[in-house]
Amino acid sequence: MKIIIVGGGFGGLTTAKALAGTDADITLVDRTNHHLFQPLLYQVATAALAPGDIAVPIRSVFSRQKNVNVLMGDVTSIDRKGKKVILSDGRELPYHIMVMAPGARHSYFGNDNWEQHAPGLKTLADALQLREHLLRAYETAENLGMNSGRRDVDDSGYRLSVPSETTDLAPWLTFVVVGGGPTGVELAGAIAEISKRTMMKDFRHITPEMTRIILVEGQSRILTSYAPPLSELAKKSLERLGVEVLTGDMVKQVDESGVMTTNGFIASKTVIWAAGNQASPLLKSLDTDLDKAGRVRVVENLSLPDDPDIFVIGDAAVFNSSDGILPGIAPVAMQQARFVAAVINARMKGTVPPVRFRYNDKGSMATIGRGKAIAEFGRLSSAVHPPG
Ligand SMILES: Cc1cc2nc3c(=O)[nH]c(=O)nc-3n(C[C@H](O)[C@H](O)[C@H](O)COP(=O)(O)OP(=O)(O)OC[C@H]3O[C@@H](n4cnc5c(N)ncnc54)[C@H](O)[C@@H]3O)c2cc1C
Repeated sequence: MKIIIVGGGFGGLTTAKALAGTDADITLVDRTNHHLFQPLLYQVATAALAPGDIAVPIRSVFSRQKNVNVLMGDVTSIDRKGKKVILSDGRELPYHIMVMAPGARHSYFGNDNWEQHAPGLKTLADALQLREHLLRAYETAENLGMNSGRRDVDDSGYRLSVPSETTDLAPWLTFVVVGGGPTGVELAGAIAEISKRTMMKDFRHITPEMTRIILVEGQSRILTSYAPPLSELAKKSLERLGVEVLTGDMVKQVDESGVMTTNGFIASKTVIWAAGNQASPLLKSLDTDLDKAGRVRVVENLSLPDDPDIFVIGDAAVFNSSDGILPGIAPVAMQQARFVAAVINARMKGTVPPVRFRYNDKGSMATIGRGKAIAEFGRLSSAVHPPG
């Protein structure tokens, strides 16, 4: 049976792996040649990890799994009537069963022109671009400090204080992260680590005190998917790292000079978008019911309501479990992938397929800086600190 899997992320990759040793004839299509471990993207963006540490060639993952053919290509549409997947170069891939796992991009809530000034973090290219931007911001500020004759180290090497409100430097040393979900929190913490601790000792004309890291969240607390006491703990931990956490503050406008929020204007040369997701635009070509975030409303076995041969999983799907809508996280995508593989396998063997997907929530964790994290496992919640 010919199976096409669109996307080599957590969902697509896990589906193909779970079909190892079966009669499935699988083609896995991804527009990149690598599987990306997105949860550690912020570490690449802040130069704590190298790109190779979080990306693995999809081809190498399946080098020994003979029933998988890996294809690098951009899927542009789906021809449901003809049962074909269409690629941007005109190639057409026929399928008996298709598994869609193309993930999501950022949502700018209808303000797509903000993207150029406030890029998000989803791909390796995004992370490398942000890394370069962060490094250039520090270097530019250092140069501005040097050119203006300011010097914060005297001849004996002692650091003198430099006024932080210096207008020309401030926007270069003000880093705004929009969105207080796990990605925004982790990113703000990591930028604070490098700005307030690791990097600054190498500069002569800028100091940690001159840097500002601001996390802007529209809701009344950060990390709303966690219990309120954990949100509060995370906020305190961020503040201890030097992050200014602004809650109940909505972004109104972003341009090259900074961000306008409900509470005023923040001059910044670095604004990073970590608020909101929009599922892959490719899903529109399925001509099926989508939610506001562009995700496909799947039925209980994760297929389309009117097409048992098309499954949609991971960030691209919206699934109503008994606990509400499942979050866009890696364990959901992976468990859905294994479920769909079991359905496909049963169909190939002529046995009774599983009927309803059930998510087994093993908990979640958000890291704050290098040494702290908050975690929630069922009804258990805790703050994790390093020893010592
Ligand atoms: C910065 C960041 C931090 C995160 N942190 C966590 C965390 O700590 N814990 C957690 O559980 N989850 C985390 N997540 C969420 C998690 O990564 C996603 O839920 C998960 O990746 C979803 O898997 P997926 O297979 O649906 O999509 P993805 O993993 O996004 O994979 C989609 C794949 O489809 C490919 N693709 C897309 N469109 C096309 C097309 N048209 N043609 C061909 N290929 C295409 C893409 O190249 C990509 O490889 C984080 C996400 C981000 C961005």
